[in-house]
Parts: sequence; structure tokens; C-alpha cells
Amino acid sequence: MSTILVYAPALAHTKAYHPESHHRLKATLQNLNNFGVLADLKQIDPKPATLEQLMRVHTPELIEHIQQVSFMGGGILDHGDTYATAQSFDLAKLAVGGCCQAVDEIMTGQARNGIALVRPPGHHAESDRVSGFCLLNNVAAAARHAQEKHGAKRIAILDFDVHHGNGTQEIFYLDDTVLFSSAHLFAPFFYPGGGLSHEVGAGHGFGHTLNVPLPPLVGDEGYCRIMRELIFPKIAAFKPDMILVSAGFDAHWQDPLAQGGLSLTGYARICRYLVEMANNLCNSRILFVLEGGYELRVLSLGILNCIYALLGKDKISDPIGSMPENENDVTDLLLQLKQRHLLI
Ligand SMILES: [Zn+2]
Repeated sequence: MSTILVYAPALAHTKAYHPESHHRLKATLQNLNNFGVLADLKQIDPKPATLEQLMRVHTPELIEHIQQVSFMGGGILDHGDTYATAQSFDLAKLAVGGCCQAVDEIMTGQARNGIALVRPPGHHAESDRVSGFCLLNNVAAAARHAQEKHGAKRIAILDFDVHHGNGTQEIFYLDDTVLFSSAHLFAPFFYPGGGLSHEVGAGHGFGHTLNVPLPPLVGDEGYCRIMRELIFPKIAAFKPDMILVSAGFDAHWQDPLAQGGLSLTGYARICRYLVEMANNLCNSRILFVLEGGYELRVLSLGILNCIYALLGKDKISDPIGSMPENENDVTDLLLQLKQRHLLI
């Protein structure tokens, strides 16, 4: 069975000197070809999401707002630096639509697993507001699509972008059919500022949000412990029908926007564990959806290693190596989170 590739680089959604620009994905496809993996993937052409697919996770007012700003030629969509061009609404719909098509392929068994290399990213987009370079929440729409179209009962979303996936958390906070886990940097003035450990969901969703707010410079060892000892057992106990991954590569120690400490090898190990987990828990159904990652070489190689994992290849490309600093220890944080979460 095949591995799906959705490629929607949104070249016309771009802004000069903005870190989330068309440069991020422009060369990726060629790089994948150079490393010889493109021929192993089943590429599908993304089609725009329908209004129904968007409205499963967003308010009509938000959709209208993005459409209007694009229609007027583009501009800033929020009070920060989330921008739109004249083409952004159509391109954001293409990103959501492509993720839903990948879900179709995987849920119907036409493909084993997949990766959606799409822009603009989505995990900061809440039901009624854009934020953090994100317009529409791709991974949330994919989760709802798996449920509404394919009858999936439980979806596990793991977000390993260095920023907290506040949008995805908000959309599913009251929901017990979607387990949202996020390991992210939490530090003074670091965006978006939420994702504390006491945010665990509410109402029916109580216990279905798992936040791991990390100090700076947690590296491969700390991340692997958090995944193995906390997040993976939580996902396994949830018994998901599908796993979706908000795959941000900005927790790499060379990323210019953050102070995470992962290496490419650390990222590759996490991707492998996740693929193995999907193989064991949910008939291999896993889709990685691109979020952040702003160091272009890291982004490109991180994606390559993720694809190796999806293809079951025992290969890792890491010419950069580990961070020079010592890792911050996560033992106390892990203990506190285990007590809170593995007993809920
Ligand atoms: Zn990020």
C-alpha cells in the first residue's frame, strides 16, 4: 500500500521578509526527488475544500473575513502578523481540501499513510479567529472529515511544532472524540502563550487535552522520554481510529524563531515511533500535516526523514547533529504530568 503526498506550496501566499513565505516549500519537491523518495509516494492533486468542510471547524464569520480581505487584494488579517494576499483564501482552501483528500485515501484503505506539505499552516487558527500565520485549521478540518465522512469515532492529534497548537486545542476543547496532545516551548513572551499543563479539556472533553509546556533547550532525550512515557501511552489508551500529526520542524535547535533543542535525528525518532504506533493501534492510519519550520535546510531534511519513517525505511539524514548545549532535564515535569494525566 502506498504513502500519500499532498503538495500545496501556496506560492502566491507570501510576503517579503516574512518567515512563513513561499520559500519554505518552494524547493521541497525537488529535494525529495534528489533524495530518490518521490517515486515511492503517491501524489494527489489537492482540490479546494468545500464550505461544508470549512464550517465543521470554523464560523461563517471567520471564513467570510478571510474571503473579504483576499477579495480586496490582501492585507493583515489580525492584530499581529498573519497576512493574506489576493490568492490566500483560495490557497488556504486548497490546503484544507488536500488534507481531507489524504484522509479519504487513508480511511478507505487506498493508501497506508501520508504527509500533507501544505501552506498556509493551520494549528493556531481557532474556530473564529486567525492567528500565528494560520488562516484555516488544516489538521482540525482533517479530523472532522475523518469523523463525518468516514465514521471515525476517535481521532488522536499530536502537535510537535515548537509553538502550542492553540487553535486545535480551542476547536476540540469540549470534545471527547478527539484527543489533542501538544509538546511545545513555554517561556516568557513566547508565542502564543497558552498550553499550560492544567489546560486538560472541559466538559465532555475533560482529560482529552494533554499539554506539555517545555522549558527551552529540551533535546532528543527529553522529547523521547515525554513521547514514550507520557504522550504515547495516553494515545494508546484512547484507542484512536486515526492519528493526525501537526508536524512543525521549528523545535530544531537551529530554528530562528525558537529555542527548542531537537535534532533531525530526534525528530526522525519521534516520526518513527508515531508510524509504529499507528501500525499497532489503528491499521497504520496516520497523516502528518505540515505546520511551522523556518530553517529551510532543517525543514527540508525533517520532511525527508518523516517520509523515510512513513515508507518504513531505516534511514535518517542528519548532517547537522545535536545542539551544542546540555539538555534541560524534564524529570520533574514528566512526573507532574504523569500524575495528572495517566490517572484521569
Ligand atoms: Zn511553530
